[in-house]
Amino acid sequence: MPVSSEARVDQILELLETAGQSAYFGEPVTQLEHALQCAQLARGAGSDEELIIAALLHDIGHLLDEGGERVDAIGVIDHDAAGARYLREQGFSDRVAQLVSGHVAAKRYLTLTNASYFARLSPASVATLQLQGGPMTEAEAAVFGRDPLFEQKLRLRSWDEQGKLAGWPVAPLSSYRDLLVAHLSRAQQ
Ligand code: FE
Repeated sequence: MPVSSEARVDQILELLETAGQSAYFGEPVTQLEHALQCAQLARGAGSDEELIIAALLHDIGHLLDEGGERVDAIGVIDHDAAGARYLREQGFSDRVAQLVSGHVAAKRYLTLTNASYFARLSPASVATLQLQGGPMTEAEAAVFGRDPLFEQKLRLRSWDEQGKLAGWPVAPLSSYRDLLVAHLSRAQQ
């Protein structure tokens, strides 16, 4: 019998509630707090459902056992691709998966094109940049700039950068359950 959308969502929420209690590498928030802050920023900006979901789940690759090689203090290498793969397997839309897979590329793009962005990166985020391939080349940036989801990937990245505030009260994880179930139920049809 196929696993229901509700059951799949509850499994993901459980993963965020448990594994998400770990620290968000070098930042003053947990993985779960970071996810909730990013999703709240997306919601507050009036984003559509898929962008909110991508903001909430963009770092899920860090919480998966089957993720890539794990390096202490920076988490799973290739967590962007691992997260996108996992979300596709779970039945999330291609756009959600692409937004998640693009959040590291967006950082690599911005570190090439925007000096003030680079200057604002947290120390932990600078440390991971080299392992993520460093700033994009001009050729890579030209390709990325033509991505139909370019603007949205940059927006998600800006929330990723902002969602690292200790003690910021945010809506609970349960407030995203209906949105996630509706998305998976629709994506299944
Ligand atoms: Fe993040």
